[in-house]
Amino acid sequence: MPDLTVGVASAISPLVRRILAPNPGLMTGPGTNTYLVGIDEIAVIDPGPDDTGHLDTVAACGGDRIRWIVVTHTHPDHAPGAVGLKDRTGAEVVGFDERDGFTPDRSAGEGFALEGTEFRLTAVHTPGHASNHLCWLLHEERLLFSGDHVMQGSTVVISPPDGDMSAYLDSLRRVQSLRLRAIAPGHGHVIEDPKAVVAYYLSHRAEREAAILAALRAGATTVDAIVARVYVDVAGELHPVARRSVHAHLLKLVAEGAARGGDIERDWEPV
Ligand SMILES: [Zn+2]
Repeated sequence: MPDLTVGVASAISPLVRRILAPNPGLMTGPGTNTYLVGIDEIAVIDPGPDDTGHLDTVAACGGDRIRWIVVTHTHPDHAPGAVGLKDRTGAEVVGFDERDGFTPDRSAGEGFALEGTEFRLTAVHTPGHASNHLCWLLHEERLLFSGDHVMQGSTVVISPPDGDMSAYLDSLRRVQSLRLRAIAPGHGHVIEDPKAVVAYYLSHRAEREAAILAALRAGATTVDAIVARVYVDVAGELHPVARRSVHAHLLKLVAEGAARGGDIERDWEPV
């Protein structure tokens, strides 16, 4: 397994190199993975944060062969580097929409395709973690760049209102329906058993949702009370994050007629 070492390009497949950005953290694991796809013509996926050293490394690695800068979504650990990398390379910036200070030269939705000399990269719209989230499929290697839709080693956060649990689960099923060899996530190592990992994500969410509904029915009527009861296996430092996922699950239960409520700080009740 190639190293996750900041500032060093490592080949993860014949067509793909990965450079880790220096932004490790609770939510980013070892940091953001920036991927360089292609040899003669290169698409950079997720330039990462606006970090001079990281962008210099990516630009030096790809040189003037970087044609496109592609983002999975506009969160601050994935997209802000697009500006500095475009300054260094003149490459075209591609993403779902203009948001969070990110401005694409070209908007990409479901099915959008980039054709490089050696590759074809197509967008798979996967809302849930972020409504403007795109996974990118490298056809030649059946490799999916999953951004924050599927990660390795850290938890995907669904934070309403832009985060949507129902959409997230639908998008996971969408990924499960693709014929994939591997997943290259926005954080962590390459996932070599995508079917099993996505199946685990789905069953994990189903278990959490069942536990949340049970807690609600047992009298835990606030998000904090539900977190305290359901997330006993999760470190306390992650509880603020768990609150957002509980809120997302509750909103899904409301939409399905199983609960009442709406505000994360207010009381909820089962139906
Ligand atoms: Zn994100």
